[in-house]
Amino acid sequence: MYTKDQFEKYFCKIIGITIDKYRERFVTLPCDCQDDDCTGWACVANNELSIKVHNNRYNGGDHV
Ligand SMILES: [Zn+2]
Repeated sequence: MYTKDQFEKYFCKIIGITIDKYRERFVTLPCDCQDDDCTGWACVANNELSIKVHNNRYNGGDHV
């Protein structure tokens, strides 16, 4: 299982941006999507709607 920090570094490496750029554009939120390759974290676009949608679906919202 990744820590939040490890996830961010991993994600930046995959998409080829610096951690500073990542933090400008994205936020890292806990994820319980149950995907096989889920790290327990999700990269979500840094805006209110995306964060809200993610939290509803994958972070203790009323999904399932
Ligand atoms: Zn997930």
